[in-house]
Amino acid sequence: MPEDGIVFDLQRFSLHDGPGIRTVIFFKGCPLCCQWCQNPEGLEPRPEISFSKEKCLGCQECQKVCPVRAIVFEGTKRIDRQVCDRCGKCVEVCYAEALRIVGKSYTPAELLEEAMTDMPFFVSSGGGITLSGGEPTCQADFLTSFLPLCKEKELHIALETCGCFVYEELEPLLSCVDLILYDIKAIDPVLHQKLTGRSNKTILENLGKLLKKDECAVQVRVPLIPTLTATDENLKAILVFLKEHNITEVSLLPYHKMGESKLEGIDSPLRPLNLARMSEQDLMNISALFRNAGIKALTY
Ligand code: SF4
Ligand code: SF4
Repeated sequence: MPEDGIVFDLQRFSLHDGPGIRTVIFFKGCPLCCQWCQNPEGLEPRPEISFSKEKCLGCQECQKVCPVRAIVFEGTKRIDRQVCDRCGKCVEVCYAEALRIVGKSYTPAELLEEAMTDMPFFVSSGGGITLSGGEPTCQADFLTSFLPLCKEKELHIALETCGCFVYEELEPLLSCVDLILYDIKAIDPVLHQKLTGRSNKTILENLGKLLKKDECAVQVRVPLIPTLTATDENLKAILVFLKEHNITEVSLLPYHKMGESKLEGIDSPLRPLNLARMSEQDLMNISALFRNAGIKALTY
């Protein structure tokens, strides 16, 4: 039996994660822990329970059904996560939908059915599906079953990756992937470790291997996080790396705070950064830095 995939979100009609209209599939689990993570509910590989204090009615139905007494009413906290075994019973009785299971299992055929729903839009716009997360390659066994099914249906497949994967696990899947959206966050390994919890050695090596292989298109993306990745020193080091690898185009992804609002409801090691948004002028200056070095900079 092929392994199930654990997916925490499906976003339809996305326009920024590859060409055309796309359905983005968010897989659970990530080997990195970037301080600015936009999808912190994707870090943990297993399904987890999220809690929204704004939606909670205080009815205490959840407490009545919890078999391990993990429901607490302490300030804004509702779940003792040391005790909770993620059985989901509290979610079933929470009619206010304050409690929610983040992460659903799909067989390859079930997920294909979801992906095929928007096929007419993919065909008319040149779109397809984008595997995101989390880090989709954390579920390489599932992708081994799922991606050939997608290819049989002639779906365009984009893969968003942080680059921290076992190359030998991804290599057999490359023939099914049309586009890889590959994040580069920092070149200095010490800085990368500080920002993401992991060294970038494997990430940079894997990118080099993919570029040499030339089997599918690779689009490098740089998240611009003020004071963290969007510093003169780091951007110049990235420029040098891109030039060394003959990369002529890059996508710049400005920081936004969307992920930070999700932190309170889950058990996350991250804390809100509360950084100021990058100004249009700063973004234009960074684009110009790349352009002047002969690298086309796309911004979103
Ligand atoms: S069942 Fe839902 S709405 Fe009721 S107390 Fe529990 S979390 Fe709040
Ligand atoms: S998921 Fe299960 S164990 Fe966890 S709080 Fe809800 S009912 Fe209790």
